[in-house]
Amino acid sequence: MSRLLGPSCRLCRREGIKLYLKGTRCFSAKCPVTKRKTAPGMHYWRGGKKMSKYGAQFREKQKIKRFYGILEGQFLRLFYEAERRKGHTGENLLVLLEERLDNVAYLLGYAASRKQARQLIHHGHIVVSGKRVDVPSYLVKVGDIIIPYQHPRSQELIKTNLASYATRFNSAWLELDKDTPQAKVLRFPTREETSSPVQEQLVVELCSR
Ligand code: SF4
Repeated sequence: MSRLLGPSCRLCRREGIKLYLKGTRCFSAKCPVTKRKTAPGMHYWRGGKKMSKYGAQFREKQKIKRFYGILEGQFLRLFYEAERRKGHTGENLLVLLEERLDNVAYLLGYAASRKQARQLIHHGHIVVSGKRVDVPSYLVKVGDIIIPYQHPRSQELIKTNLASYATRFNSAWLELDKDTPQAKVLRFPTREETSSPVQEQLVVELCSR
């Protein structure tokens, strides 16, 4: 059974959480994490040996990177920015990750997955406050207006995705008009409104060494 899993689903099964890497399938009963709780393969970790503190911290960091689909360098840049900001570093980090344009486009339903959202942005299908933005790591600001580029292909792509995915999350910090379509960032999310299922304190302990 595990041999039939794609690489994305294997990552989820290894981490033991849903990373939402495959769009529609992640929300269906076909999701392997929903169907089976253990890690893939015959020799998965059964919890017999206690994981070291470093191991637990490292796992949480990997989960965050995989959940948002970012690389080590991008992660560290956001971590340093989170440290620089006032308040709790772990919470700042999660809020910064939520502010990424690829994450916002995904939450709005402009794309089936964060990976597809990155592709849409790279291809110039998204405009933020009047400017075409092709950088998925762009951090949205309060008041930003996010719309599809004024080209029939961009409009069609995003309208089709919205028809299927717009109601998936209903994030209170984002306002969406599905018909225009147009979205606005009303405010930044709180820790409770962020979508990553991680223990951020473990990540802060690891990165602050
Ligand atoms: Fe696969 Fe998505 Fe389920 Fe992860 S959440 S196991 S990527 S279907």
